[in-house]
This record gives sequence, C-alpha cells and structure tokens, in this order.
Amino acid sequence: MKSLHPALTSVYDDVLRRNQGELEFHQAVYEVLESLSPVVQKRPEYVEASIIERICEPERQIIFRVPWVDDAGVVQINRGFRVEFNSALGPYKGGLRFHPSVYLGIVKFLGFEQVFKNALTAMPIGGGKGGSDFDPKGRSDAEIMRFCQSFMTELYRHLGEYTDVPAGDIGVGGREIGYLFGQYKRITNRYESGVLTGKGLSWGGSQARTEATGYGTVFFAREMLKAKGESFEGKKVLVSGSGNVAIYATEKVHQLGGTVIAMSDSSGYVVDEQGIDLDLMREVKEVERGRVSDYVAKRGSHVKFVEGGSIWDVPADVALPCATQNELDKDAAETLVGNGLRLVAEGANMPCTPAAVQVFQTAGVLFAPGKAANAGGVATSALEMQQNASRDRWSFEHTEERLDHIMTGIHELVLTTADEYGIPGDYVAGANIAGFTQVADAMLAMGVI
Ligand code: GLU
Repeated sequence: MKSLHPALTSVYDDVLRRNQGELEFHQAVYEVLESLSPVVQKRPEYVEASIIERICEPERQIIFRVPWVDDAGVVQINRGFRVEFNSALGPYKGGLRFHPSVYLGIVKFLGFEQVFKNALTAMPIGGGKGGSDFDPKGRSDAEIMRFCQSFMTELYRHLGEYTDVPAGDIGVGGREIGYLFGQYKRITNRYESGVLTGKGLSWGGSQARTEATGYGTVFFAREMLKAKGESFEGKKVLVSGSGNVAIYATEKVHQLGGTVIAMSDSSGYVVDEQGIDLDLMREVKEVERGRVSDYVAKRGSHVKFVEGGSIWDVPADVALPCATQNELDKDAAETLVGNGLRLVAEGANMPCTPAAVQVFQTAGVLFAPGKAANAGGVATSALEMQQNASRDRWSFEHTEERLDHIMTGIHELVLTTADEYGIPGDYVAGANIAGFTQVADAMLAMGVI
C-alpha cells in the first residue's frame, strides 16, 4: 500500500471509525485516497470545503427487513439494503446484488466505486448500490418472484426516475428486474419506465444493455492495446466467471480476433485451447443454470476441468477478471506475470486485491480498474433512461456504437488526466482523479450539501 497524503490520513481514520468491520469499503476508500495526493496539492479548495470527507460518507443508507414465504410455506427473513451514496451529478444509479455475502460493507464499497464510475461515463447519474443477503441458488421461480415483490414493497418508497434508479448486479438479471418493475408499477400505479434499468426489450429496456458491461470492458482493453500499437488479434485471454459480464466479454474478444481459452465459476475452471464455444457455454449457464463442469462433457475430450483450482494458473496474454471482488490476489498476479501476461482489465468490481494491482503495475503489465473498464454497463443503463425519457427505442447498432464511443472517451479521459497530474500511463490514478474531480466540482458549486 502507498502511504496517504497527510491531509487525507484523518479522512481515512474517520472512515475506519464510522464504518467498523466493513473491510471491502475500507479497501475501496483507501484505493481512491492514495490516488488523490496530487489533487490535494493542485486543488486546495477541495480540502478547505471538506469535499473528500463528504464524498466518503453516503448521503443516505437504508436497511430493511424482507419477509417472504418459501415453497414449503415457511416464512423466510432476509435483509435488504440501498446505499444512496452521492447525487451531485444526477439521481442515484447502481445495481442490486442478491448474494449471501451481501452486508452493509459490500454495498458501501460498491456504492462508493459507483460514484466515480458513473462520473467517468460523463452521463448525468449519481451513485448508489443495493441488494440483499438472499441466496437465489436453488430457489424456484415462484420463490424468486415472491422475494422480489417483498423487496420492492419496501424499496419503492425510496425510488423514482429522478431520485434513485436501480439495475442488476450479481444474482439480479432480466427476470428479477421484471418482478421488481411489476411490483413497483402495481404499488405506485405509474408506468415509470425510467425507475429501473435492465428491463426487457418489449417493455422499455435498451438494446445492448445485457451485453454492455462485457462488451464495454473489451472495448476499453482494445483501446489500451491500441495505445501500445497492439490488438486482440491472436491473443490468448482468460475470463473468470461465467455470468452475464463474462459471457459477453468472451463474445466481444472472439469478434475482435482474440481467443478466450478459460472460464470459471465457484466450482472451478475449464480450459479449452480451441477457444470457448460460447453457444454451448450459454446453454449450460443461462438455459440450464448449470455449472461450468457441465460444459466439459458436452464439448469433448480436449477440454480440461480443474475442480476448485485457480483460473489464473493458466498462461495467457490478457486477463479479464469478471467474477467478483478480491478474486485475484498477489500470488495469482505473480503467477500470471511469470507466465508472460500483458494486460488486465477488470470486468467485475474490485476483483484484484491491492497487492495484486501493485504486482501488475511494478511488472509493467497494463492494468485498468473496474470503475473505468466496466463502466459500459451503467453507461448503457443511462442510455436506457434516455430512451425512456424520450419514449424512444434505438437499434442495437446505434446503441452499441454509443457504448463504444463512451468507452473510448473514458479511456482518453483517464490517460489525459494521468498525464495532467504527472503520472502518465497510470490508469488507476487517472480514473480515480478524473471521476473524483467531476463529482467534487459539482459539490463545490452546490455549497455545503
Ligand atoms: N451493476 C452494474 C455496475 O456495477 C450496473 C449498474 C447499473 O446499470 O445501474 O456498474
């Protein structure tokens, strides 16, 4: 870990004191603060107005009970969260995560990251995040529906197209957004399309939203390679995870001439040197809701499944961690570097530990943080809101072109900012500073808010 500028140590101490035990949130805050030393020097007005302290404290945190009845008739209780982190640039915007690991510290880390990510998109959206410790694994469709309905029965009063606009994240996809939207519509008696994003195409959803996070990550990585005079052509790529982000990252890598040779889930990873057959993987994961190991039996004997192993042991040119936070640690980073890795772009939120990032940066591996590289998902959510507000519907091609343009713009902004602050080529500091200064300037203009 780098040390903090003296003006920032007390900010960080306050964060530790106010948010005890929330380790992921501490990690996310520290990672931003350690990038801000040059900003503190160049822009003392931020320190005078206590902007950094204010940005680290969410505007509002909502915790609620979610009671629901399972298929056996037993009452189940989960905890629901929505952290409305910052609305300086627009309504709170960010996904909902349904996973047993969810607690306030996870929601806050994700909400904090979202503030800067959303600022980088240059779209008018603030940052927030929510979710529940509900575990969708093994639950029937009817149970998922009853859970979503109960969750929304409390959450609806905090939402609105000008207030707070959730979307999906881990465990929340099109099916869940449908049940959530249906309940919101029923309670409020308003067809308020712009209150949720990730909707189905026939009822206000946007083309390319499903693909956007994965596609966007690969567009960003393409720009990083281009800046070095390279491309995806002929590159071997590892994509961890096998959910929505991983699947569409893989699709775009293949379209750009690279080969994804391994994917994973919580049970282990598969290696397919001929390139992952995406239609087959989608059938296994999206239709059958099965495990990556099921892919092996269907694909043939050249495919290897390693139970419980680390996908980062596989030699490759590019790594796209698209599973979850802290999935790639220092040891994994050292193995990857030893095997000749050239580039990492985070499709998930904070998948690389701080020590892993340091290994990459020291070794000269190109490294892009999630708040820049995976911003395509939320950016396309903002495009969905734009279509909803104008009661319009764009084509896939037009929407994908806008996404590509936004990702190229973020890449340029991050590099220009890094240059401007005297840290050329540093994607981490460039993203943190560019995101931070946009939010900070808006807050300064609005007075003490
Ligand atoms: N959950 C996604 C993210 O981490 C998307 C959020 C959204 O579309 O609002 O950025």
